[in-house]
Amino acid sequence: MSRCLAERSIDHVVLERGEVAHSWRTERWDSLRLLTPNWQSRLPGFRYTGKDPDGYRTLSETIDFIANYAKAIGAPVRTQTTVTSLRSTDAGYLVRTDRGDWLSRTVVLASGACNIADIPGFAHRLPPAITNLTAQTYRNPDQLPAGGVLVVGASASGTQIAHEVHRSGRPVTLSVGEHIRAPRVYRGRDLEWWMDAAGVLDERYDLIEDITRARRVPSFQLAGTPDRSTLDLNALTAIGVKLVGRLGGITEDGKAQFAGSLRNMCALSDLKMGRLLDLIDEWARANGLDNEVEPPHRLPPTRVDDSPPLSLDLKRGEIQTIIWATGYRPNYSWLEVPVLDRKGMVVHDGGVVISAPGMYLMGMQFLRRRKSALIDGAGDDARELSAHLASYLDSRAVRVSA
Ligand SMILES: Cc1cc2nc3c(=O)[nH]c(=O)nc-3n(C[C@H](O)[C@H](O)[C@H](O)COP(=O)(O)OP(=O)(O)OC[C@H]3O[C@@H](n4cnc5c(N)ncnc54)[C@H](O)[C@@H]3O)c2cc1C
Repeated sequence: MSRCLAERSIDHVVLERGEVAHSWRTERWDSLRLLTPNWQSRLPGFRYTGKDPDGYRTLSETIDFIANYAKAIGAPVRTQTTVTSLRSTDAGYLVRTDRGDWLSRTVVLASGACNIADIPGFAHRLPPAITNLTAQTYRNPDQLPAGGVLVVGASASGTQIAHEVHRSGRPVTLSVGEHIRAPRVYRGRDLEWWMDAAGVLDERYDLIEDITRARRVPSFQLAGTPDRSTLDLNALTAIGVKLVGRLGGITEDGKAQFAGSLRNMCALSDLKMGRLLDLIDEWARANGLDNEVEPPHRLPPTRVDDSPPLSLDLKRGEIQTIIWATGYRPNYSWLEVPVLDRKGMVVHDGGVVISAPGMYLMGMQFLRRRKSALIDGAGDDARELSAHLASYLDSRAVRVSA
């Protein structure tokens, strides 16, 4: 957004509570690699030109990439500046920070979609002896006591953490709710390549039948490993990870209760993956790629035990650690403009906050396109939202001078 505003000569400042790329520096586990290939992190004025377009950036490479981009575009970032409140005034917005106040006619909320680990309300019933971590506080297996680990959530974060922890010698039980299974490589090309080429990632928010639901869909079960392997539930059970259903509650006496829907959840996920691969095959055929790429194939169904356990006594000692990989939510505790819905999410129309003229939102799931919450999605959204912001400023300038 800063690059797009600069292109339009709109004077602006970027306020950051930590250093540039703060969330990557402080809220991710050590071994994380982007699940999007290098070529895919396109930003306004930046395209990957290195030698490994299909590789996946490590955490430190990701931090450098974002910090270097900020430097290259000369973004006017004020680091170590926390926004403590944001209010509307007659003239626009009053932004209070721990390093002084700012008055602005417009404001872009780009404070991230993943500030807080979204853990269920019953988490407080965990027996106190159990080490309690989230995908944000987990760093590496050395941090964990010996013994069994319950990972809750089987999307990208949960499956990657379950894989790493199990390989460290701690037996892992993975609680599986709704998830989206996907092959890393399909017909010889990265799944992200197919989704990008076939336009799946460019699908617009205003053309989707149920956008509320689309904004809640969990992340793809993908991992960016150098061997480009598929990290699905079959890969995890093959190394000994145990699967249980969705964690529905913890009783007063410390028993975890799992839904009996594991088989259905997995069947549904297999079905949805099949539909995505059908769409890719259709697109490949229609675009004359059938002879260029490998022939279509399907993955074997997800293997599930006949009767996975429906409860687990967390006081018995089998589980020593629980890691919540149940998603994230934004933190708007500083936002004093009434633009939040009952769930604490900003109400917006493709990033334009209609009830607060001059306020914009970035970086949310399916904000304007399916790719909006990816690094690769920021550019198109920023181009369109900065155009809206510029015309808003123009319209106010006309009114003031009239
Ligand atoms: C585990 C995980 C893995 C991911 N993997 C990928 C991937 O492989 N590929 C991909 O494209 N995307 C990935 N993403 C999504 C990725 O995080 C987003 O694409 C990207 O970070 C969005 O950038 P952002 O600037 O909108 O939000 P953020 O990166 O969250 O940045 C928001 C910034 O706002 C600052 N901030 C927040 N509140 C305040 C305040 N009150 N005052 C001042 N500053 C504040 C924060 O410190 C932070 O630096 C992943 C996300 C997670 C959680």
